[in-house]
Amino acid sequence: MSVREIVTIGDPVLREPAREIEGDELASAAVQELIDDMIETKRAADGAGIAAPQVGESLRIALAEVEGVNRRYPYKPPIPLTVIVNPVIEPIGAETVAINEGCLSVPGLRGEVPRHLRVRVRYRDREGAERELVASGMTAGTFQHEVDHLDGVLFCDRADPRSFSTWEQFERRHRDGFVRRMEALTERLTAEDGG
Ligand code: ZN
Repeated sequence: MSVREIVTIGDPVLREPAREIEGDELASAAVQELIDDMIETKRAADGAGIAAPQVGESLRIALAEVEGVNRRYPYKPPIPLTVIVNPVIEPIGAETVAINEGCLSVPGLRGEVPRHLRVRVRYRDREGAERELVASGMTAGTFQHEVDHLDGVLFCDRADPRSFSTWEQFERRHRDGFVRRMEALTERLTAEDGG
């Protein structure tokens, strides 16, 4: 396993729709190694997720993981390591929520992105098994952010440009309000989901 270089906004690979993984390709040494490297790269950079185009590979593979206290996003609820191959995402219900996001490929910038409150993600795991998950709140936002990468979309495309801030200004002026709003949302979702 090795840490790969994270490509940043301006590199055309971040703007290409990535192609699907086909047939036996998923089991290949090259793709399995890519997945291992993506995990290591995400952990080294302390991201909440990473998509293959972010390490320069235009393939429909992404992953999310939030464990312990994430240094970039200490307020995010935990997500067990989830590798999603050829994911298809669909909203559940019409409600959206504004989530303050950053991106390893867009250094220095954060912004408020309207995201579907709940989503269903159908995907293959790294062994090729068909799986599906339902996510809500900030976790739903993380999966939408990662799947966007596979379509060449970055969070700054969807954000209200007037909400952009540096990480320092987010910490100083926006973080407390955002975290309070997310805590209230988590409380509501927990109650709605029956605890
Ligand atoms: Zn990103």
